[in-house]
Amino acid sequence: MKKHIMELLMGCFLLVCFYYLSREAAVVTVEMNQKKVIVVDCGHGGSDPGMIGIDGLKEKDFNLAIGLKVKESLEKRDFQVVMTRDTDTGLYEEASNNKKAQDMQKRILLIQEVKPVLTVSIHQNSYEDSRVKGPQVFYYRDSPQGEKLAKILQEKLNEYLQVERPREAKGNTTYYLLRRSPGVLNIVECGFLTNPEEATMLSHEEYQQKVAEAVADGVVQYMNGMK
Ligand SMILES: [Zn+2]
Repeated sequence: MKKHIMELLMGCFLLVCFYYLSREAAVVTVEMNQKKVIVVDCGHGGSDPGMIGIDGLKEKDFNLAIGLKVKESLEKRDFQVVMTRDTDTGLYEEASNNKKAQDMQKRILLIQEVKPVLTVSIHQNSYEDSRVKGPQVFYYRDSPQGEKLAKILQEKLNEYLQVERPREAKGNTTYYLLRRSPGVLNIVECGFLTNPEEATMLSHEEYQQKVAEAVADGVVQYMNGMK
């Protein structure tokens, strides 16, 4: 009888030990999983093609292809990435009578929910003069942190893409996403789909990868400056 009680007590003791050890392990796992979260927003999608470039190129397709590469590059650098979309769809509901407005509102809602350290919104540019080209990064004019990130991203893009006549990051107060984003957000216009040379380069996966690496390395540099 005494032996059974001892065994029972030992069993209970081991169970308690196991409980505390597994709890410790769970805490450690949670801490290790606390990666910095970044939202990657691929502009347009679904019924909204965005800008139309030479030969009918649709901006939405470039935004998605490059955005997915940015996600991959950031994950390699140990960030957690949340995409606003990862397929050719908008964020609107089919029944909505103002799809564009709903799409934009939902992007902002997602950023509000996720609370990322920053958001990068991927777009392509267009202009009536087909000679105009080059990447350009936009930030909310009244956001010093947004400006800081934009200057770094612009510098990286100019460097990695070997831009002949580099542009400067530009402040803006009218773009909906820049105005409404609750945290730091930059709009990255990767290039002009109306410039034949740049449109061709942007179509190549290698060039898209360079854009992604520039953005991801820029984010790393910005985050290092935050420490
Ligand atoms: Zn766009």
